[in-house]
Amino acid sequence: MSAVLVLDRVTKRHGDGRTVVDALVNISLSVKPGELVAVMGPSGSGKSTLLSLSGGLDTPSEGRVTIGDIDLGSRSISQLAAMRRRSVGFVFQDFNLVPGLSAIENVSLPMELDRVSLKSARSQAADALELVGLSDLAKRFPEELSGGEQQRVAIARAVVGERQLLLADEPTGALDTVTGENVMRLLRRSCDERKVATIIVTHNPTHAAWADRIVFLRDGHIVDQTAPTGPDVLLAERC
Ligand code: ADP
Ligand code: MG
Repeated sequence: MSAVLVLDRVTKRHGDGRTVVDALVNISLSVKPGELVAVMGPSGSGKSTLLSLSGGLDTPSEGRVTIGDIDLGSRSISQLAAMRRRSVGFVFQDFNLVPGLSAIENVSLPMELDRVSLKSARSQAADALELVGLSDLAKRFPEELSGGEQQRVAIARAVVGERQLLLADEPTGALDTVTGENVMRLLRRSCDERKVATIIVTHNPTHAAWADRIVFLRDGHIVDQTAPTGPDVLLAERC
């Protein structure tokens, strides 16, 4: 199966002269449909930069990023924005829901912005809320939901419609252990059932154990890539 995301020898340099920082150096990585990749590494190692470049929120200094068969470097800013809305979902640590919109309105918003008809957007949003087990709470506003429930709404919004790629930057960072595990279970399910290619940044090895592959970053370099090892019970749970 061809990759959803390909990073081909990507370098990202910030600043210039004596203040130059190489946030990423010569990174090559590809993620297939349904694959869950965890990225781990110390603070400042380039994890967030990797996600920004992967989703076309930032451009590489060298190398190439491809989503589907689209070379992001060949697109205008407005074409990139449209491609992101349609194909890429982002989940951040602080859920980023719109406070004045209900759960289902938050989830259908990206599609409405993309001029999908309201009826179709709402029906796809309902499907996505079902995937994360929140059908009963669809009409609640963010302030009426717990942290874990808000993060599930954010995940539903990130996988709604035809999204092929989900990029999650420490999505479990603000959650307690049990809720964090549930979020990982959901991400795993969206990979398995919807074939969404997913990259998740996490500091938690137990959460990384849900991934197919763990990529370790240090100083902008990939220093190791492994399949997760962990207690058998964790691996068994996934199957
Ligand atoms: P992580 O998410 O692993 O903590 P980041 O990707 O945020 O790491 O940052 C990687 C490196 O790039 C750090 O040294 C950081 O200070 C630097 N960096 C990130 N964004 C910028 C920016 N906009 N301008 C200058 N330096 C940056
Ligand atoms: Mg970061």
